[in-house]
Amino acid sequence: MDLIPHVIDGRETESRESLPTVDPYTRRPWARVALGGKDEAGRAVTAARRAFDEGPWPRMGFAERGAVLHRLADLIEANLDDLAMADTTDMGKPIADTRSKDVPRSAANFRFFADHARLSSAETLPMDSGHHAYTRYEPAGVVAAIAPWNFPLMLETWKVAPALAWGNTVVLKPAEQTPASATLLARLALEAGMPPGVLNVVHGFGPGSVGEALTADPRVDRITFTGESATGRAIAAAAAANLTPVSFELGGKGANLVFADADLDLAVSWSVKAIFGNAGQVCLAGSRLFVQREVFDPFLERFVAAAEALVPGDPKDPATQLGPLSSAEHYAKVKGYIDGVPGDGGKIVTGGVADEGLFVRPTVVLDAPPDARVRREEIFGPVVTVTPFGAEDEAVAAANDTRYGLNAMVFTENLSRAHRVSAALRAGTVWTNCFFVRDLRAPFGGAGDSGIGREGGTYSREFFTEPKAAVMAI
Ligand code: NAD
Repeated sequence: MDLIPHVIDGRETESRESLPTVDPYTRRPWARVALGGKDEAGRAVTAARRAFDEGPWPRMGFAERGAVLHRLADLIEANLDDLAMADTTDMGKPIADTRSKDVPRSAANFRFFADHARLSSAETLPMDSGHHAYTRYEPAGVVAAIAPWNFPLMLETWKVAPALAWGNTVVLKPAEQTPASATLLARLALEAGMPPGVLNVVHGFGPGSVGEALTADPRVDRITFTGESATGRAIAAAAAANLTPVSFELGGKGANLVFADADLDLAVSWSVKAIFGNAGQVCLAGSRLFVQREVFDPFLERFVAAAEALVPGDPKDPATQLGPLSSAEHYAKVKGYIDGVPGDGGKIVTGGVADEGLFVRPTVVLDAPPDARVRREEIFGPVVTVTPFGAEDEAVAAANDTRYGLNAMVFTENLSRAHRVSAALRAGTVWTNCFFVRDLRAPFGGAGDSGIGREGGTYSREFFTEPKAAVMAI
């Protein structure tokens, strides 16, 4: 069986121990991955530190660095099949999605941030006193990027691309469940001409392992993390010891508001994608659906029909729309939520765990009271609560009744309502009549338990650089 190595200082490296990485569809190990720990994390930070302090990467012009990142994007596109299959095999995500979304978006991340950094202009401030002040965006240094398993390559590149474009060096720790695409990425980066030590990949666990070692290392200048809110708390505590700045994209419990004046076909089609895409393993999932009473019954009927029509199956089959959950542990967690629905006062109208493998059928829950676990906690599976509402302010209050604040969706044909409700919702992104549409210049992140800070365009620049004010007397 193949071994997925670390990539440290431009070299592929193994560890004394290795770990099987399991295909959740076959439920069998399909490769082994080097199991790093504190030592490997330390060596990777040493390499990244040296590449930053002594190497050419932070000293290159934006165009030269950008050219390497564009070459990397070309190589990602040229290796689309391998990268897509790596993520699909590691986590069970349908190959149709990894091929059409995850991998192309990963290439786009490199292209966008290469160009954005090159074309970014800084402030120039002529002062009344006759002085001149201007801003220099200098790379922050060594970035630790810690990623989750649900969009492995796409979320890793969302961190790595801006960090590299601004001249930083990186140690990337992919999730232990989905290591394969990160090693492929590091290989392609070397092939694109990136100097050794600029992008390092270390595999291992979080607590007591690579993740914790990276977050506690005083030689790390920035920590960018995507994952669970509870993990964010542990990382924030570790980062506090060194005052290391953090950027956190954490959990979510997205509200999806369907008003009576919505285009119902559109609302049904997006609402199904919003909660059942990637088997609901999406931080942005529209897991709390609120539907105005006048259209509740027709909406529910069509929504349930569309959910039941999703095609489950082998994620490597291009026709599959719904894969298994990513691991046996995660399946057990989601099953626990479904089992708890009746006890909490809810009613399952369709779905539940399937008879085979790690599949959960699209599950629709009615009558869940506001304090039910399915309505309050992030399930991270294909489970949605559907609740009727009367007036607009009632819907907004219900949507905002959460500790999370990542995103929300609004379906209405009334423009004034769209603006009003977008303003009233407490969320980092509000999508009207769509879902998951991204402009890489826009801020991305969440309020409350959903995160700290924003990434995207200038927001990534603020995090991955040390903006310096240069002030001159004339
Ligand atoms: P997780 O928090 O369990 O793990 C994420 C990463 O953190 C892994 O690489 C893990 O090894 C590492 N880690 C765990 N404990 C650590 C520690 N103490 N120190 C350092 N590193 C540690 O999350 P997950 O289960 O992989 O991913 C699912 C979660 O990610 C969900 O909550 C989801 O909402 C969230 N997520 C958020 C966004 C977003 O943009 N807001 C996007 C995708 C996923």
